[in-house]
Amino acid sequence: MLDLLIRGARIVDGTGNPWWPGDVGVRGDRIVEVGDLRAAAARRVLDAAGAVVAPGFIDLHTHADFTLPCYPRAAAMVRQGVTTQLVGNCGFSPFPVVPQRLDLLRAYAAFVDAGLSWDWRDAAGYAAALERLPLACNVALQVGHGAVRIAVMGFDDRPPSAAELDAMRRLVAGAFEEGVFALSTGLIYVPGSYARTDELVALAEVAARYGGFYSSHVRGEGDTLVGAIEEAEVGRRAGVPVQLSHHKASGRRNWGRVAQTLAMVDRARAAGQDVLADQYPYTAGSTTLAATVPAWAMQGGLDALLARLADPPTRERIRTEMAGGGAPGEREFEPEAIMISALPPGPDSACEGMMLTEIAAARGEEPVDAALGLLERHRGAVQMVVFSMSEDDVRCVMRHPAVAIASDGWTLAPEAGGRPHPRSYGTYARVLGRYVREEGVLRLEEAVRKMTSLPARRLGRRDLGLIRPGCAADLVVFDPDRVADLATFQEPHRFCAGVSHVVVGGQLVIEDGRDTGARAGRVLRRA
Ligand SMILES: [Zn+2]
Repeated sequence: MLDLLIRGARIVDGTGNPWWPGDVGVRGDRIVEVGDLRAAAARRVLDAAGAVVAPGFIDLHTHADFTLPCYPRAAAMVRQGVTTQLVGNCGFSPFPVVPQRLDLLRAYAAFVDAGLSWDWRDAAGYAAALERLPLACNVALQVGHGAVRIAVMGFDDRPPSAAELDAMRRLVAGAFEEGVFALSTGLIYVPGSYARTDELVALAEVAARYGGFYSSHVRGEGDTLVGAIEEAEVGRRAGVPVQLSHHKASGRRNWGRVAQTLAMVDRARAAGQDVLADQYPYTAGSTTLAATVPAWAMQGGLDALLARLADPPTRERIRTEMAGGGAPGEREFEPEAIMISALPPGPDSACEGMMLTEIAAARGEEPVDAALGLLERHRGAVQMVVFSMSEDDVRCVMRHPAVAIASDGWTLAPEAGGRPHPRSYGTYARVLGRYVREEGVLRLEEAVRKMTSLPARRLGRRDLGLIRPGCAADLVVFDPDRVADLATFQEPHRFCAGVSHVVVGGQLVIEDGRDTGARAGRVLRRA
């Protein structure tokens, strides 16, 4: 007797091979039979005639570690068919926590923190807190380099001493002992940006020792993109697989450079290095507004920035550098490309959804002063959306076989408010609707491979991301003619269309488009 039988679907199995008609049988939390199961008995039968059944999507890049405690159902993602998400990206993880530096860690994560309790110290403590929640999908953890560096060195802009490097290595090792999958870096954010390559190699060696991988928001996605991708040699030097996060070329003058960086990925792979990238399907990115401030001005953290802004000559130096488009290198400031997406409630709430140039005009200020004013009034807790990429680049990156689809999402439910980047709600549905069905950029089976077996391989999990007997019963059923993203930059809190059922560990978490409330999600540990 099967527990669940999905009948009459087009099976897109995650390998990239052409679909075939058939049935999928589930017992417990595993797929047990695939094929013609007309004769099989099952406690529960879903008629999926005309629909696609695929492995549940594995999102390698989210920041939901800071929002899951508030929105444990992860509705934005699960309703698209995401059944596993990897958190802890871009150097941000909610551990390790060192009590005397907790304020620094909270300030660092202020723009993604939806109100964590912070009553844990390490990966195990955080995982235990997650496991007490009614999770709808699985969560895999990474340890963030930024969080580790804060725990040991605060926001100091200098190389670590031997003792400090050793302390960081011990914290990274501790996280791997507790089951994290990878070490992440965010090299545009302070204090990640203060790290030299040797420090990253020394820490990535720890990841290598545990069979983990190294994911990186590289040191520059604009003018310095090519050199930043070269720095992924960290993986070669440390002997660890590399995941290049949200691959893109930012800023008009850099459009087209992804052809060069993808060729670099090809060369590294041809030389035997395990390098993959991921991508969200939009021409806009999103991060903290503080990422536009010169790196030196962030030294010491947010309080130090606010103190500098309160000092007129230092403020003038900051605003002159920003108004000039940003210091050479990264951290561009392009006010005409910036939309304010979320900030704490109050008189500035009307700024949500407005371009920075509009806000400045309404206040009779220069855009740089409008930006600095928002950062001061909200102590850095301001998110922005930046329209900085080209559609041709998005398609070019998407076509590359070593690029997985990932959302870079963080907001998880409509009650979060604000105007966050729509990628949390739309990434997977947008690829399947717009880029597969409407534009033909990818075949359906190839798109599903990039959402399933490719990211599963990065996690080192052969039992995820495939429709095959013995694999986890994480499944999504969607209508390939109707699946579409409905979330927009102005109305981001809209669920996608066309996804009817989502199964996590054999349990229906979405049934006919509705949340069943099943507590099916688990925290995955690296084997
Ligand atoms: Zn990032």
